[in-house]
Amino acid sequence: MNLTGKTALVTGSTSGIGLGIAQVLAQAGATLILNGFGDVEAAKDAVAQYGKTPGYHGADLSDEAQIADMMRYAASEFGGVDILVNNAGIQHVSPVETFPVEKWNAIIAINLSSVFHTTRLALPGMRARNWGRIINIASVHGLVASKEKSAYVAAKHGVVGLTKTIALETAQTGITCNALCPGWVLTPLVQQQIDKRIAEGAPPDVARDALLAEKQPSREFVTPEQLGELALFLCSDGAAQVRGVAWNMDGGWVAQ
Ligand code: NAD
Repeated sequence: MNLTGKTALVTGSTSGIGLGIAQVLAQAGATLILNGFGDVEAAKDAVAQYGKTPGYHGADLSDEAQIADMMRYAASEFGGVDILVNNAGIQHVSPVETFPVEKWNAIIAINLSSVFHTTRLALPGMRARNWGRIINIASVHGLVASKEKSAYVAAKHGVVGLTKTIALETAQTGITCNALCPGWVLTPLVQQQIDKRIAEGAPPDVARDALLAEKQPSREFVTPEQLGELALFLCSDGAAQVRGVAWNMDGGWVAQ
């Protein structure tokens, strides 16, 4: 699969799943634009090893104006976005009665509203070129719920609904929009949840195994590279009629 000539913007690509997907797309020849916080130089190096220095924009995706600035950067420096991977996301675990309101607002803004903003700003260019791939990293929590994750589950169900709407609005074009719904992937976002169990007294191995055993029948983590391979397939001509799908890769989680 050759993505030479295509520009891919992956939000939240300085870490975890986003970085894994960015690397797979870069390996296939795409020019990458990275986004996210933390060790930006390490992420750039991880992508640059496949041949091209990636672009980077540090937009905070909870801020609509910064998202608009990132999309202007993509248009002016790279001629627009052909492949948009809406990946950035955060988590907070707490019962609904005590869920901090500022965490609710941040999760809805970053995990859901940013997908609306990047997409609405990327679509005119995709329509002009009559080609585009919008890949939204939802979650199994876009399909089923877990307790104490109200904002995350609401946002991810919202992402799945938004994905279907965008797929219908672009159905007669060369643009497709789909969602990936990962189960547990061992990234900083999930390590935080393992660390919480360790802080409550579980030994590290037990905490990790218990997390998997509760939900993921394979008892193995999904990897960012595996998600990258699925994203790469969605970029192919073979996937041109895959539209509005919420595709789980979850070790059997939602089969139960
Ligand atoms: P991660 O914490 O490793 O990475 C999150 C990325 O988002 C980082 O690059 C971070 O800098 C960026 N980010 C966070 N807040 C941001 C903001 N306000 N503006 C811009 N960037 C921001 O997490 P991950 O596990 O790789 O998660 C990536 C996506 O996959 C998320 O949408 C998450 O909900 C989803 N997901 C993860 C899992 C899992 O098990 N790890 C499962 C299903 C879905």
